[in-house]
Amino acid sequence: MTISSFPPIHKPSRDDMPVAPNLEYAKTRAGFDWQQMYSELDWLPGGYLNKAHEAIDRHANGPRRDKIAMIWEGKNGEREDYTFGQLKTLTNKFANVIKSLGIETGDRVFLFMDRLPETYIAFFGILKAGAVVGPLFSAFGPDPVRDRLQDSGAKVLVTQPELRRRITGIIPELFELQHIIIVNKNNRDTEGRDMADLDWDEEMGKASTDFDTVRTSQYDYSVMHYTSGTTGKPKGAVHRHQAVVQQYATGKWALDLHEDDVYWCTADPGWVTGTSYGMLAPWTNGLTQLIYEGGFRASAWYEMLQKHKVSVWYTAPTAIRMLMKAGEELPHRYDLSRLRYSCSVGEPLNPEAVVWGEKAIGMPFHDNWWQTETGAILVANYPEMDIRPGSMGRPIPGVEVGVVDENFDPAPPGVDGNLVVRPGWPSMFHSYWNNTEMYNSRFRKGWYVTGDSARVDEDGYFWFVGRTDDVINTAGHLVGPFEVESALIEHPAVAEAGVIGKPDPIAMEIVKAFVALKDGVEATPALQRELTRFTRQKLSAGVAPREIEFVPTLPKTRSGKIMRRLLKARELGLPEGDTSTLEEEE
Ligand code: AMP
Repeated sequence: MTISSFPPIHKPSRDDMPVAPNLEYAKTRAGFDWQQMYSELDWLPGGYLNKAHEAIDRHANGPRRDKIAMIWEGKNGEREDYTFGQLKTLTNKFANVIKSLGIETGDRVFLFMDRLPETYIAFFGILKAGAVVGPLFSAFGPDPVRDRLQDSGAKVLVTQPELRRRITGIIPELFELQHIIIVNKNNRDTEGRDMADLDWDEEMGKASTDFDTVRTSQYDYSVMHYTSGTTGKPKGAVHRHQAVVQQYATGKWALDLHEDDVYWCTADPGWVTGTSYGMLAPWTNGLTQLIYEGGFRASAWYEMLQKHKVSVWYTAPTAIRMLMKAGEELPHRYDLSRLRYSCSVGEPLNPEAVVWGEKAIGMPFHDNWWQTETGAILVANYPEMDIRPGSMGRPIPGVEVGVVDENFDPAPPGVDGNLVVRPGWPSMFHSYWNNTEMYNSRFRKGWYVTGDSARVDEDGYFWFVGRTDDVINTAGHLVGPFEVESALIEHPAVAEAGVIGKPDPIAMEIVKAFVALKDGVEATPALQRELTRFTRQKLSAGVAPREIEFVPTLPKTRSGKIMRRLLKARELGLPEGDTSTLEEEE
């Protein structure tokens, strides 16, 4: 049974491929034991495990010492290259910097940074010091930054002058924050810094290049990423050092990373893909990777692929759809002959986009599925496996993924159900920071419940169906409607607000808000613009509503909960009488 109307894309046999894929899927999956992959890690003496050692020092201490680990291209065309050896020295220095500030094992140190080399140096320096690193998306406004720093109790924040200025107003509310370190890259900023802040260059200048990586255990916390849910504020999903084994393994299997590849992951490190696959997977595999500071522009992206001879590319559906919009002809103006493998994650990859890849860049996009909580890829299309366009692929070796009905019985092939995972995969999140109840609620009847619905076909290919909650996926970023509603009602004109994801051909969904105004306030286009500006400034352009519609009242349950799904049904033009599922909310 094939669910897509697109014919399968057949793959040549292994022997006919220019580069033999790392993974022989059926063979590896049968009787797989994670010990095989654990034994490929380097480990610290005494059985300790630290992600920074696996990603950087193990190479710096061996034959890859002078291999380029990072090619950085700045937004103004600057270029900096760093070898594994240099990264070892710089991350040692930063580990010394934060140790000198009194940071202890398990303390949280957050990054609010663009894609600068210092972001990567700080990330691994923090891990070396045994602390927990929390990267934040640099487009965030003050509210999301405050919520995350308050919840995590971060003691040190590393940021840049312009981002520091953006959040000045919230600093007095961060009672546990002790230091702010400012990276003024290449002295781009000339406005001068707050005297109470520390300067990256000054601190690094004083720091020793020697550092003994803290002997963390595989169970110690390492990285946390905040992710949005339907209700409440975003939750900090915490990962352990152990996750590195799966990030390493999936880099090999799903991204097919080979020694001589130049790899480019377009995700920002503020999101989990940008750390698991923009830092850990490529570097644990000893690869050279490109970090591009600039934003999306079709021609600039093709230019990056050409100029840096990228051979493996990991990107996202919204970007691919924007490339499609820019036309099939454009990529043909560039020499993309080094590109041999491309993958996508973060949102449903429509079959048209998979197939478009073949025409435009000479290969299909390989979709794969995972989420913040899973820490690493769990379902993927692999190089040697035929692609069924529209399918997320098949589970990685060593992990059981299922589709179950509401009683947690397996759904028959082709039938929609909840996408679930058998707990215990190595990169599984180990808590939501300060929220044990929410963490426990994700595990039911021996399964981890992902919040997605899917179906599986008779050959074990998984097909994404949708989310089972109200979380919005806009351009691959999850947005909790509650966060946006809370921001809107802080405006004096707003009585109540309901927020939904509205289908969009490029971003998959955009954030749409329905707003009821306070008595006597007039619904004008100027007020609409004012609310857009207000929420953008508080949250970020990506999270703020792209559309605002004024309504006299919002539909609510008897207990007063806004019926977002009814708003969505209305928006989609579904018959309002036919809202049987909505009655559950009564
Ligand atoms: P995040 O935790 O922000 O990485 O978002 C994870 C969510 O993005 C998943 O639970 C899915 O809803 C969605 N997602 C990720 N990858 C895919 C994919 N390949 N196809 C469809 N949806 C995806």
